[in-house]
Amino acid sequence: MTFAANPDPTGADAALPSRCEVLVVGSGPAGAACATLLARAGVQVVLIDQQVFPREKVCGDGLIPDAHHALARLGLLEAVMAQACPVEHVRCVGPSGAHVDVPGRLAVLPRRELDALLQRHAIEAGARCHTPVKFEGLLEAAPGPAGGPGRVVGARLSRAGTFHELHADWVVLATGAPVPPMVGAGLCTRRTPSGIALRGYVRNPALAGQPRRMEVVWHRELRPGYGWIFPVGDATFNIGVGAFFDTRCDGRSVAADVNLRRVFEAFTRVHPAAAALMSGGELLGRLEGAPLRCTLRGAHSGRPGLLATGEAVGSTYDFTGEGIGKALETGLLAAEALLGGRERGAPAEAICADYDAALQRLRPRFDLYERANRVNRHPWLADLVIWRARRSPRLLRRMSGVLDETSNPGHLITARGLLKLLLQ
Ligand SMILES: Cc1cc2nc3c(=O)[nH]c(=O)nc-3n(C[C@H](O)[C@H](O)[C@H](O)COP(=O)(O)OP(=O)(O)OC[C@H]3O[C@@H](n4cnc5c(N)ncnc54)[C@H](O)[C@@H]3O)c2cc1C
Repeated sequence: MTFAANPDPTGADAALPSRCEVLVVGSGPAGAACATLLARAGVQVVLIDQQVFPREKVCGDGLIPDAHHALARLGLLEAVMAQACPVEHVRCVGPSGAHVDVPGRLAVLPRRELDALLQRHAIEAGARCHTPVKFEGLLEAAPGPAGGPGRVVGARLSRAGTFHELHADWVVLATGAPVPPMVGAGLCTRRTPSGIALRGYVRNPALAGQPRRMEVVWHRELRPGYGWIFPVGDATFNIGVGAFFDTRCDGRSVAADVNLRRVFEAFTRVHPAAAALMSGGELLGRLEGAPLRCTLRGAHSGRPGLLATGEAVGSTYDFTGEGIGKALETGLLAAEALLGGRERGAPAEAICADYDAALQRLRPRFDLYERANRVNRHPWLADLVIWRARRSPRLLRRMSGVLDETSNPGHLITARGLLKLLLQ
């Protein structure tokens, strides 16, 4: 089967096909990465999103090293860096005001621009993109003799109030943190988010000459989370606060009673750089909040005919809330599982198992970030780590290694790690 050329890259007017090999739902980093890899391998991919791009996505816009690696794999790093604000270090600020600068390969690019680049890249690779098209539910084959849901054979979509059935060998759900699509697909096992965060863009020409750094701030008034200020260029900064809830060992999160607007006000009170940015600064647009799904728990990764990827399966890191890199990475893993299965002629169950095993290989890192999340609840720990890091180049290298994913964050925060910090 071949697709007709798609002259309108956003697919706003093009007729939706009735069949494809893989339907990718959601054109954020996870969906776009998955669609790109599949399309590049010659798979007929339809990529849909309920929004027309470029679109806003509430985010801190920070690209940490895992995002750089994944973008390089996609062949998109150069194009992203041509638009991004490059950054050389993260300044970690503790409740006492003490700070340490952790070097790393970092950048900031508003999601409006990043996600448009990713979507365009998927289209250029051969994915057929249609927006605004909403995923409404799955099409399933009749249940087998053993009962239970039948194999997923496509999806019900809607566009401008008109419903459409699209049959596909596989559907990939990359719908991000909102749970309705995952609940409808029967994959969601935890509805509550792992956290919530709020951000705004502030322009302040008086700060145009400031060194370009990502600033992350812990303070008891920001518990259980942190505040950030990330430069996006043109004297404009992404400023926000996040709160991370307690995730119990059964994977359920206990939503804390947090009013993020009040936390934001506290941030602009307790952190001098935030106060300076806001006084004389102009808020561009509104402060907007969104949920986060972290810890790689709270959802099944798929069932025959269906894979879920990105934040839909909790691919955002606890503790920091960074998730663009891991959304890209898990999107690539989903594509690899489908391509590997196609090459071997593997049954659908084996493809699901391969993908799940690939996700589970990421689990140790997610577990460590979950442990490190205690800094958000006990910000004095940040002061302790900063105090030591200012005296120990080795510890600073390890912190940089955490960012670069070459050393692990949990060791900095375990009881043994803390004792070592005090005694070293
Ligand atoms: C305030 C805040 C700050 C953050 N800061 C950072 C940061 O600085 N760095 C970082 O790495 N991460 C950050 N994150 C996390 C990051 O935003 C997520 O990890 C990332 O967006 C997940 O990518 P994704 O592709 O899985 O989902 P998304 O980016 O959410 O994309 C999902 C897409 O699916 C579409 N969709 C949803 N439902 C449907 C439907 N029914 N039909 C059709 N389409 C649908 C949506 O329109 C969307 O385009 C932040 C998150 C928040 C909330």
